Amino acid sequence: MNIAFIAHDKKKDEMVKLTTAYKEIIKDHQIFATGTTGQRIIDATGLNVHRFKSGPLGGDQQIGAYVSDNKIDLVIFLRDPLTAQPHEPDISALLRLCDVYEIPLATNLGTSEVLLRGLGNGFIEWRKTQREAQLKELEEYE
Ligand code: PGA
Repeated sequence: MNIAFIAHDKKKDEMVKLTTAYKEIIKDHQIFATGTTGQRIIDATGLNVHRFKSGPLGGDQQIGAYVSDNKIDLVIFLRDPLTAQPHEPDISALLRLCDVYEIPLATNLGTSEVLLRGLGNGFIEWRKTQREAQLKELEEYE
């Protein structure tokens, strides 16, 4: 599975704790992240992370593009609901695309834990079938 991690500045420590606590589960998957979040995950866990640009510089949009290309299976986005973000439109766009493509999405720590445990228990395997079906649909369209 391809998992995307994003954390706003005040949520980065939480993200470090989350990825450290669930390292045994996420280590078997491809990890993607916005720039600074990705670096924090690398420093804390030593895992391999594909880093996009920093969120305010387009990282959320890059992840959104991957979502629309069916390359992301799970999004863990620890948002800070109490601080205005300069890239709010990019954030909304990413959340919207997750809904368009029915990608499991967590926007807080509680749901993140449920999704990561679900991932560990194979509850997201249906994504493989969905991915294949969508790719086939795209091929027919082209
Ligand atoms: P960052 O981006 O990981 O580069 O800080 C996240 C964001 O603020 O959207």
